[in-house]
Amino acid sequence: MKKERLVVATGNAHKLREIAEIFTDYEVVSQKQMGFDEDVEETGTTFAENALIKARAAAKALGCKALADDSGLCVDALGGAPGIYSARYCGYHGDDKKNRDLLLKNMKDVTNRAAHFTSAIALVDADGRELVAEGHTYGKILYEETGDGGFGYDCLFESDDLKKSFGLATPEEKNSVSHRFRGLQNLLEKMRKS
Ligand code: IMP
Repeated sequence: MKKERLVVATGNAHKLREIAEIFTDYEVVSQKQMGFDEDVEETGTTFAENALIKARAAAKALGCKALADDSGLCVDALGGAPGIYSARYCGYHGDDKKNRDLLLKNMKDVTNRAAHFTSAIALVDADGRELVAEGHTYGKILYEETGDGGFGYDCLFESDDLKKSFGLATPEEKNSVSHRFRGLQNLLEKMRKS
């Protein structure tokens, strides 16, 4: 039987693979593969709003079911920062090293190192039906970069589940406890019930 197509509003190959491994009942393709490569402005004030903005844009442009995630790191002692601004914490978009350096500077004399990653996953149908789910993973901010695996803040995040830095974890270890994995599982659960 032909699988239903699910477009993922991301340019990140790592995210696409993670989603394809979970949504095995679907033909998972990126929006770029479908000819839609617009960088939609993330004007929301929550992870869920931003995920919806990206999924709505892809569903509308391509006329099919679209999924998007929006994720980031929330640090308790910083009032939840960098949060939805995780990718541009240093002031501009996409410099992971500068973002990490600023985080370490802001956490220099802070003893409460508790933090979590959040991922909001939005699914939008061509006819406008919407579902959103979230996933979290908890840990602590390390005092220095540890390991060189993963991306973003991984090497500064010691996972409570794995008892080690995400930077030292294999992709399989990280994926088994990641915020995105948990968000995707929660979305699947909601889809089954809807
Ligand atoms: P986006 O959802 O792709 O916009 O990601 C926002 C930012 O949050 C990324 O650029 C990273 O800095 C951070 N981030 C999100 N997920 C992860 C993760 O799994 N590991 C490390 N950093 C992450």
